[in-house]
Amino acid sequence: MTRTRTRAECARLVEMITVERGCEQGQETLPGRQKGAVLGRTPRKRLSSPSIDSSAPYEPKTAKQQKAGSRKPKTARVPRTRAGGEWTEASFMGWIRSGLRRLSLRWPPRKQTELAARRRYTGPNARRTWEYLCAECGCWCAGKDIQVDHIEEIGTLKTFQDLPKFCERLFCEKEGLRVLCAECHQARRRKGEEG
Ligand SMILES: [Zn+2]
Repeated sequence: MTRTRTRAECARLVEMITVERGCEQGQETLPGRQKGAVLGRTPRKRLSSPSIDSSAPYEPKTAKQQKAGSRKPKTARVPRTRAGGEWTEASFMGWIRSGLRRLSLRWPPRKQTELAARRRYTGPNARRTWEYLCAECGCWCAGKDIQVDHIEEIGTLKTFQDLPKFCERLFCEKEGLRVLCAECHQARRRKGEEG
């Protein structure tokens, strides 16, 4: 006669077998005091993982965790007035600024300035075709080492009032542009930041 066992019955059976085996092993293999030690423990307890009481409130333990706990929750100090409440005014203007700067890379006078400063390369590097004259130090550099500089500084774009001047300077004619080597351009930028 076969009878299907319920889940609870199966679990109880498994438990019984496990306990029995644990006792047998303890009795057979381990002599003396060790035997008692093993028998003292129930196999079920040994196998179970440490219980975690999920209902208990979270308490930070380390100093770092305590510090994090005492910190004030992050609040938006700057009002997010743009893009449906997602962007601050500064991030919005920064987005326009970087977009215009990227656009200026395709400004034709930029290319014209580069072409005016270049000559055919005659050195030992077989891969190089052109070299460019730095307007500041007078060195001849590879195309990858030059940058086009605005003689009149472009300035900032922080409000819409800055926009006309910013665009005027950014998209200036080739007379307002010059080629500089990377070092000279870096030095000029540093000077601009200081003064
Ligand atoms: Zn230079």
